[in-house]
Amino acid sequence: MHGCDNFCSYCVVPYVRGPQISRPPNLIIDQVKRLAENGIKQITLLGQRVNAYKYTNGDKTYCLADLLEMASAVNGIEWIKFVTSYPAEEYFDEICKAMANLPKVCHYLHMPAQSGSDKILKAMNRHYTAAQYLDLLAVRELLCPT
Ligand code: SF4
Repeated sequence: MHGCDNFCSYCVVPYVRGPQISRPPNLIIDQVKRLAENGIKQITLLGQRVNAYKYTNGDKTYCLADLLEMASAVNGIEWIKFVTSYPAEEYFDEICKAMANLPKVCHYLHMPAQSGSDKILKAMNRHYTAAQYLDLLAVRELLCPT
């Protein structure tokens, strides 16, 4: 993915990288296959808000969970990670289920809290509260216990 639309008050990314763009899944998986053919065993799917990945092609909309499944099917790849996750995205449950069910997806979740204070989170223009962040982690623990 490239860019970000969130405009957290302290962050330069939306100004220097532009709007959020999800690359087509076939291009990403072709890249994963090329890496595997060259002996690479671990890949990391990257985005400023990688869990917001969404790409529509015809009737199908792909989310990060779909990418994790597609990358898992690539021979030679043994470990898959993704960074960075934003604590308020719509496909969180699907991503946690993929993490639980796909053996190649590492049980590693990087999801910056930024602050435990709702007042500070609001000043940062983060779109969640401290309680919502903790609720998300509770869901993750249920779906994908460590
Ligand atoms: S979500 Fe991340 S990249 Fe986007 S503006 Fe906020 S801190 Fe920056």
